[in-house]
Amino acid sequence: MKVGGPARFFAEIKTETELREAIIWAQNSHVPIVALGMGSNVLIADKGFDGLVIRVRCSELSQNGERVYVGAGVSMAQVAAFSLQNNLSGFEWATGIPGTIGGSVYGNAGCFGGEIQNILEDVFVFDINASLSYTLSTHSCNFGYRESMFKKQKHLVILGVTLKLRHISDEEKKEKQAWVQHMMRERVAEQAIGEHTMGSTFKGIVLSHELMARIQTHDVRFQKPDNACWIFENRRGMISAGFFIEQAGLKGKKIGGVSVSYKHANFFTRDETGTAEHAMILIAFVKEYVHRKFGVMLEEEIQYIGFQ
Ligand SMILES: Cc1cc2nc3c(=O)[nH]c(=O)nc-3n(C[C@H](O)[C@H](O)[C@H](O)COP(=O)(O)OP(=O)(O)OC[C@H]3O[C@@H](n4cnc5c(N)ncnc54)[C@H](O)[C@@H]3O)c2cc1C
Repeated sequence: MKVGGPARFFAEIKTETELREAIIWAQNSHVPIVALGMGSNVLIADKGFDGLVIRVRCSELSQNGERVYVGAGVSMAQVAAFSLQNNLSGFEWATGIPGTIGGSVYGNAGCFGGEIQNILEDVFVFDINASLSYTLSTHSCNFGYRESMFKKQKHLVILGVTLKLRHISDEEKKEKQAWVQHMMRERVAEQAIGEHTMGSTFKGIVLSHELMARIQTHDVRFQKPDNACWIFENRRGMISAGFFIEQAGLKGKKIGGVSVSYKHANFFTRDETGTAEHAMILIAFVKEYVHRKFGVMLEEEIQYIGFQ
């Protein structure tokens, strides 16, 4: 979103050795640490982060048959392009996600029917508490919808992952490339791409029979108008938080310099006057408003940095 204050200390690391050095320095200096990828899913406090921000830039990208090892700092788009170039399928869905592999494993990123946990074989981490690195199997990462153990175990810094993809023919590759183009057109048509946003502000909601019955008592539109954002995510039986925000009439709601996007109600956009505080107040306002109207408590997908 390009708001928020500075990091008191900042380091970019490309290797485990550099990470180790940065961590030892922070521990000796008694400053807290936070890892950062591309910062596409975070809200950083206006006062900044009073500690060491470690930007993970591990950039290895190598193939061994159907397995691809990817450093945590490599962008999702780069991995998607690399995979298809090498006739490997399974990662196409991630083309439009503007983050790194590390950030995407942390939040179990997904879209268009794909989710990173489904093509992960293992995750290579550095454990700050134990001061050693090791490999975790996908199973032990406790992935769920936009969830992983990394959200709770902040002492684990993701350094890289092994992906298990599927070899495809040249013909299938052309089909996949066409699908990627189609998916990217949909993304541009429905999301506030190119604006200052954090992507989806809130997680999707499980659409239970009880919730369905409750929302049908309201005057809601189940036809998707041209500029609507509330696609039912039927694959998981979920509904976008944008549905509730839009149906609550909050599209365009503005606090200070941060607004609910007209294009996609789960995206909040910022003008040149917007601050992290405006975003925080808008998030709180939307949560309260949607809860009062629909009895649904929205939960943030974005991560907060520097607010404690
Ligand atoms: C326009 C737009 C569209 C988006 N579309 C999607 C989408 O379709 N699907 C989706 O799932 N997300 C989407 N996002 C959200 C975001 O891009 C993803 O969540 C992405 O995976 C975040 O990666 P990042 O590198 O930017 O992480 P950051 O925002 O830098 O970090 C996110 C969290 O991960 C932690 N973290 C980052 N790197 C590491 C590491 N190496 N080790 C340990 N912790 C780490 C950070 O501390 C932070 O808590 C979108 C965002 C935008 C702006």
